[in-house]
Amino acid sequence: MSKTKKKPWVAPTLSAHGGGLNKFGATRRNLVTERIGGIPVDELTKRFGSPLFVVEERRLRDNARRLKSAFAYRWPRVIHAWSYKTNYLGAVCNALHQEGYIAEVVSAFEYDKARALGVPGKDIIFNGPHKPRAALERAAREGARIHLDNFDELYLLEDVARGLKKTVPVAIRLNFDTGFTDPWSRFGFNLESGQAMDCARHVAESAHLKLVGLHTHIGTFVTDVRAHAAAATILCGFMDAVEAQTGAVIDYLDLGGGFASKNALQGVYLPPEQVVPAPEQYAEALCDALMAATREREARGRPQPTLILETGRAVVDDAESLVASVVANKRLPDGRRGVVLDAGINALFTAFWYHHDARPTRWPDGIAEETVLYGPLCMNIDVMRQSIQLPPLGVGDKLVFSPVGAYNNTQWMQFIEYRPAVTMVMRDGSVEVVREREDLAYVTAQERLPASLAQPFESAGGTA
Ligand SMILES: *Cc1c(COP(=O)(O)O)cnc(C)c1O
Repeated sequence: MSKTKKKPWVAPTLSAHGGGLNKFGATRRNLVTERIGGIPVDELTKRFGSPLFVVEERRLRDNARRLKSAFAYRWPRVIHAWSYKTNYLGAVCNALHQEGYIAEVVSAFEYDKARALGVPGKDIIFNGPHKPRAALERAAREGARIHLDNFDELYLLEDVARGLKKTVPVAIRLNFDTGFTDPWSRFGFNLESGQAMDCARHVAESAHLKLVGLHTHIGTFVTDVRAHAAAATILCGFMDAVEAQTGAVIDYLDLGGGFASKNALQGVYLPPEQVVPAPEQYAEALCDALMAATREREARGRPQPTLILETGRAVVDDAESLVASVVANKRLPDGRRGVVLDAGINALFTAFWYHHDARPTRWPDGIAEETVLYGPLCMNIDVMRQSIQLPPLGVGDKLVFSPVGAYNNTQWMQFIEYRPAVTMVMRDGSVEVVREREDLAYVTAQERLPASLAQPFESAGGTA
């Protein structure tokens, strides 16, 4: 008998010979991810299990620094904020805070989280459509930057400020049509209808509020830099009008987030390398527009407003990967190959709108073919990739999904499976667990069983 390991039998299939090229150029052959942050993937899963999220601290900080320097060259005063909802793992937030990013939060929970991490109130921007009274009270007391979303919130904050016997500085969130993106009209006050000016007037007349800033967040994954430039121009125009009509002096303009990451949005034909602008391109478009729109104001002796940015996905997305393992192969009735993985949309929520790149850790023998990647959930919607060219993979082989750093460790769900551990490859090459894999005790910790339901069956030993 031969001592060499027998390969499993695989049903033969016919596939067109692509000649090594497809419509985007070379095939994906040899696109492998052997290591993450310098550490072999196999070593990571051996130590921490599978599936596994891996954050690269060095990459995260490099992204944060590149964005900062892109703007530092182009505008005199810039404050960078980290959008918590994009990824609020403590290790991620604090790495970015250490890089000089303040916190941008959109709920009482996120506010609490920033404070618990040690961020002072003055370094928190409080956005979002739901700010309960207690949260507003705390934010006002602690000197946070509160950005108003609607009139009811304005009245509530006025009442809170009256109670605190304070004049609370506020900014108002605006929405408008840049001409380059679908306008998001549900957040903040609409500019075109006059609602935003009504709000500004109300704030200016209030004995307890003081208008100091204007805010907008035009959308997310905005790949046309002209949209941000237009937003800057429109915001400056509104600043001039507000200053002229109310006497307020605007201290800062917050242009939100929205810079795209190097990820492949579903329905976009071209690869991200071609459609996603570099940080410097966003910075140039935005700051040129700001410069042009504030020149006159500056000539009148007004200091240029501070620029605030609230970046999410562009900073964190490509700094994190998800390792998943093959648990089964199957042949679908239409001839395609199906692969079942141990991680699905429960862990990778963004699989709903991205074609995440997925690469094996080595390129096995065999011809790549069209493959559907399924997650482990007993749910038809659990598809990680509808179609990807991959070589034959065996049970236990790993796939590395990346970029996955944005909106997954916050929007993931505990559904059917435990959520996996998150590790971080630190700058010194060591690896730390930054969020433990969930277990039964974690998942059931908040549950309470009424005494009458403490046992599963009426009598001991199961059903009668
Ligand atoms: C989500 C969000 C951001 C971050 O958006 P990205 O597109 O990920 O950069 C910034 N500001 C506000 C108000 C947000 O809601």
